[in-house]
Amino acid sequence: MQDLLIDLDNTVYPEDSNIFAQIDLKMKSFIAKNLNVSLDEAFKIQKKYFVNNGTTLRGLMLYHNIQPEMFLNYVHEIDLTSIKKNEELSDELKKYKGKKIIFTNGSDKHAKKVLKQIGLDKTIDHIFDIIKADYIPKPDISTYQKVIKEYSLDPDKTIMIDDLPNNLKTAKELGIKTVLIKKDFFNSKTHNYIDIICANLLDTIRKINKGII
Ligand SMILES: [Mg+2]
Repeated sequence: MQDLLIDLDNTVYPEDSNIFAQIDLKMKSFIAKNLNVSLDEAFKIQKKYFVNNGTTLRGLMLYHNIQPEMFLNYVHEIDLTSIKKNEELSDELKKYKGKKIIFTNGSDKHAKKVLKQIGLDKTIDHIFDIIKADYIPKPDISTYQKVIKEYSLDPDKTIMIDDLPNNLKTAKELGIKTVLIKKDFFNSKTHNYIDIICANLLDTIRKINKGII
């Protein structure tokens, strides 16, 4: 039996739910307010830190002494009603007996709200969030080592599912099997650290339950 590390945003719900787009806008307005810059400038800062530091929050903590709780509470105050209940996914996950762990760069509070909205709050065993990661985001290898230790995972018997190829690269380095939730623009041939590509999480869990993955 393998254990599952499952990303949250754009993985447990589809990208077109427009949830991350709202978070993206909230991050921009947070930066504009707190760093006293224009929205255009804020957007540049946001993306620069995301690329260079793994998350925007990490850059804000390192270079502007931003309190993480304040940031997380602000950016996760969004409308989740576009996320639909997903009973098929819930049923499929219930059948799976390995550990089911949400592994997210977001907060525990946000993850719980999202899981409740989909109907997965009683199906997921654990949430390993950015606070448990000491605010060091995926794809930093130290965070993967923490999650492995916390739940006594064996990397050779673990599958990680994420919509961002970079997050899977680190997983593969540790010997974890990797599943990418496909985005349209993505060309699989350029990334040899991705074992399997699936259309969505339901498709992934079905394949795991059938023993295909
Ligand atoms: Mg994601």
